[in-house]
Amino acid sequence: MTDKERVSLLVAEKKDMAVKLSKDIWNYAELSYKEEKSARAIINVLKKEGFSMQEGIAEIPTAFLAKAVVGSGKPVIGFLAEYDALDGLSQMAGQTEKCPVEGTRNGHGCGHNLLGAGTVLAAIATKEYLEQNGLNGTVALFGTPAEEGAGSKQFIARDGWFDDVDFFYTWHPHSLNSVSAIGSVSIMGANFRFSGTASHAGSAPEQGRSALDAVELMNVGCNYLREHIIDQARIHYAYSDAGGTAPNVVQDHATIKYEVRAPKVNQMQELFARVVNVAKGAAMMTDTKMEYEITMAFSDYVANRTLAPVMDAVLSEYGAPEWSEEDYETARKFLRTYPKTTLMGIKDEMKALFPDSNPDEVLTRPLHDGILPYDPKETRYQSGSTDVGDAGYVVPTVTAYIATACLGNAGHSWQNTAFSASEIGIKGMLRAAEVMTLSSVRTAQMPELIEKAKREVREKNGGRYVCPLPDYTKPPIDTY
Ligand SMILES: [Zn+2]
Repeated sequence: MTDKERVSLLVAEKKDMAVKLSKDIWNYAELSYKEEKSARAIINVLKKEGFSMQEGIAEIPTAFLAKAVVGSGKPVIGFLAEYDALDGLSQMAGQTEKCPVEGTRNGHGCGHNLLGAGTVLAAIATKEYLEQNGLNGTVALFGTPAEEGAGSKQFIARDGWFDDVDFFYTWHPHSLNSVSAIGSVSIMGANFRFSGTASHAGSAPEQGRSALDAVELMNVGCNYLREHIIDQARIHYAYSDAGGTAPNVVQDHATIKYEVRAPKVNQMQELFARVVNVAKGAAMMTDTKMEYEITMAFSDYVANRTLAPVMDAVLSEYGAPEWSEEDYETARKFLRTYPKTTLMGIKDEMKALFPDSNPDEVLTRPLHDGILPYDPKETRYQSGSTDVGDAGYVVPTVTAYIATACLGNAGHSWQNTAFSASEIGIKGMLRAAEVMTLSSVRTAQMPELIEKAKREVREKNGGRYVCPLPDYTKPPIDTY
């Protein structure tokens, strides 16, 4: 039997457990840092499989580390499970029209129920593979909540929990199958709090110092700043305290929330420092005081160039999930729920992705049945952000994207919530478990490759991981 066949057998043996786990987490649909039932369900499964457990790591109640030591315990094979849902994306399973579940607003619109259960399945299959084949290693699965919120992996990294992990193979539900070299950008969020002096705006305006004016001047300054930043950077803001509702009182307090994105973490930090200078200028102009507090930050994610070809080769060996005629029919039904303009955009996307095919024909069977090639020369970033980036600044990390939804499907949508409980989603999850397991057991037997991958990380982080968050920023468990 080949290693691939052995892995498939192990995954098939535990399939029912993983399907049930993914459906339970889908039903719980718990938001960031509140994933108590979801984390408990995963912990119970892993304990039963002989993993030891450390709960509440990095001061996050729903984060944990599950470990299984086989033989000498080296290398340390890491896995990252996510299990948080999103607000406003509730959707009934199996419904191809928008139809929220009564009594909840939450839904798994990013498929983290599949992500979590598939990763648990890979960790268990990897442990069994090591045991059955006389190999050594520690399987370390980290429960990492709140990926959709303020994250958890950067806090876990900051506390040193990732330090002895040798590599992470991860996955994310998608509409396409690939080990992509396209990165995710870094991000930092902060509250800027201005305080001034209240007074009667009509009879004693000269005594007032307006915090609201300061916030408005900060926004004007940042809007001028936009012309002088790199193309891929972003500056977002939202008022969280506009100072009150009375125009006849000079507002003595106001708070604005900023988020800054740029491809690399150092580019993001440089831009953030410029935003802070604008805030200082606004305070000076208005004779108010400004304090800021960093609330969240993720480093950029870029696939480890040494290990990505290993996972890419494994994904190509397995190929896409095997879709049935019924799956294609379901996919077609969902595709039809998109508005006309969105469908036109999807068609253009298909032309770019599959230049040799007729896009109309591609969309009559709208499930990805191939693997997009891995391109090591790729330097682009997509504009989203993920805390997997911070794992990648400590440990060689590669993510596979596996189809769990129809071609053109958008993440964070009610359609995606429905796909995450469908047969299509389950097939993608099982394929992902096979790909992560085979990549992990092969890499575990290549110590020189692991060393090379770790050297790549040291070159990237300058020798050690530096968390983009200041020490004072704690996981915002009840506030985010
Ligand atoms: Zn996600």
